[in-house]
Amino acid sequence: MTKIGVLEKSSKYIMNTYNSFPIVLKEGKGVYVWDEDGKKYIDFVAGIAVNVLGYGDEKYVEAIKGQLEKIHHCSNLYTTEPGVNLAQTLVENSSFDKVFFCNSGTEAMEAAIKLSRKYGYKNKGKNASEIISMKNSFHGRTLGALTTTGQPKYHEGFAPLLPGVKYAIYNDFASLEELVNENTCAIILEVVQGEGGVNPAKKDYLEDVRKLCTEKDIVLIFDEVQTGVGRTGKLFAHEVYGISPDVMALAKGLGGGVPIGAMLAKEKFALAFKPGDHASTFGGNPMATTAAGHILDRLLNDGVLKNAEESGKYLREKLEGLKDKYDFIKDVRGIGLMQGIEVDINTGDVIKNAVANGLLLVGAGATVIRFVPPIIVTKEQIDEAIEILEKSFNIA
Ligand SMILES: *Cc1c(COP(=O)(O)O)cnc(C)c1O
Repeated sequence: MTKIGVLEKSSKYIMNTYNSFPIVLKEGKGVYVWDEDGKKYIDFVAGIAVNVLGYGDEKYVEAIKGQLEKIHHCSNLYTTEPGVNLAQTLVENSSFDKVFFCNSGTEAMEAAIKLSRKYGYKNKGKNASEIISMKNSFHGRTLGALTTTGQPKYHEGFAPLLPGVKYAIYNDFASLEELVNENTCAIILEVVQGEGGVNPAKKDYLEDVRKLCTEKDIVLIFDEVQTGVGRTGKLFAHEVYGISPDVMALAKGLGGGVPIGAMLAKEKFALAFKPGDHASTFGGNPMATTAAGHILDRLLNDGVLKNAEESGKYLREKLEGLKDKYDFIKDVRGIGLMQGIEVDINTGDVIKNAVANGLLLVGAGATVIRFVPPIIVTKEQIDEAIEILEKSFNIA
């Protein structure tokens, strides 16, 4: 099929929910992808912080293939080895004790919301159902996660939303404290707000929130759907701060591109769920957990996490260099291989130019360009991307 043919078919048959670029991607290798016309791109989007190992990683493909040939799915009526092994790896490399598997970020957040409500109900009484999340946050599109997403533009037309959700200002402890009462069951935040503009939390803020939650027996939920799984140079972004939540949501990078999400909890909180309280048909299926198991193995035992840290530092230096050079770059923010530049030129134009020049980029909020490449990215490849980016500013 021609590119135009594919795009026409897409607008005819696929529901109109995305502002996609007029590009049909065909294949990839490492940090590069090719479209139907044979045009090559260096990919600093990576499926939006998903393709940890980039494309076509041979060992990753082999691992998934091998599992597909054995057993790919069987529901949670039965147990499989890849699932329990992945849970063990997650627990042994984190501060959590139990894992619930699902299929996406929004589902991981739904699981976290339900767990915290059940915990509040059991420990504080039936009115302890209030949740506080942050303005400018992003937690997903299903109704519970959507409600906790503190951006009115995503709420419009979907009322009534989940009752009992309030919004505090991110990185402003006083605004959070004001909303807390005896019925607060959970506080939800991203360690680095992703979609909202690549805004890292301040350390003293996280410390204050952690202390407050412990004192008032409020479940502290970190949404690490985007920041988790090596993105920041640590396995989880909260390790950068040395502050651990009670519950954490993962997805995006976890399966390296195979859909999987997870909600992790410390024992005391995990105990709130009893059999029948929550479930997912696909959750933890052997194909997805094999993919995720392989990703974690490569991060922890094959130097990929270390690369994320080093390449992240290098990317940051390069972006700081651009900021010194160009007045329209107002800020460089982020941790590791999750970076953003805030600009006062049109981000859409820069991204469009970059795509035309062979670099895939994505925005974050209205004024930020985000950089979330595969975490196998090398310094040379970062140089290549920065060069294309500079060209794409279109400064005469
Ligand atoms: C992408 C994202 C989600 C939603 O994940 P989906 O897999 O699209 O449902 C939730 N939280 C954060 C922080 C995200 O970046």
